[in-house]
Amino acid sequence: MLVIARAWPKVIPTASRAISTSPPTAANPIPLPSRTSVPTGIGKTGTPFTAPTSTAEYALARVDDVINMAQRTSIWPLTFGLACCAVEMMHFAAPRYDMDRYGVVFRASPRQADLIFVAGTVTNKMAPALRRIYDQMPEQKWVISMGSCANGGGYYHYAYSVLRGADRVIPVDIYVPGCPPTAEALLYGVLQLQKKIKRRRDAQLWYRK
Ligand code: SF4
Repeated sequence: MLVIARAWPKVIPTASRAISTSPPTAANPIPLPSRTSVPTGIGKTGTPFTAPTSTAEYALARVDDVINMAQRTSIWPLTFGLACCAVEMMHFAAPRYDMDRYGVVFRASPRQADLIFVAGTVTNKMAPALRRIYDQMPEQKWVISMGSCANGGGYYHYAYSVLRGADRVIPVDIYVPGCPPTAEALLYGVLQLQKKIKRRRDAQLWYRK
């Protein structure tokens, strides 16, 4: 019988070389990766005053944390749609995406709402009504501009009758692109708004003044 002897390279698995066979003990613990940098600042941690200089600053930072948590977990948008984008907004509210799990519950009155989705084409005729509804909402309030039409006029940018962006009449916090944006995109916009609310520091700014 012919036997072909082959010289297989001697391979030592990398993992076996890295793993220690001796069990960890108090004198020989598992080595942890060294942390070279600690995230700092409100953009990284989401909480202000990572290094408070006084007890008052620390207390006000925690007050801000509590207020922000209450606001971002109970965003109530107004039931308000202008055009085809509103269908995606309804989709976002339907069971498949289930915005209720984020505390987002549609309200029928601007007096009870703290968020408005500009969902659709804003015409010049509708602009004063949009502004009035925005003014009827109590503070703190936010605006999500949804779709190309609300962001900048979209397909109708050069039409004589269309406003070239909702931000010409009301301040916009989040822009969601698309025509129409998907319900997932709108959901992502709401999550971005929650992140923005998390970084508010009203009590601290009041204290510093
Ligand atoms: S962005 Fe597109 S889908 Fe949304 S309102 Fe305008 S035309 Fe309709």
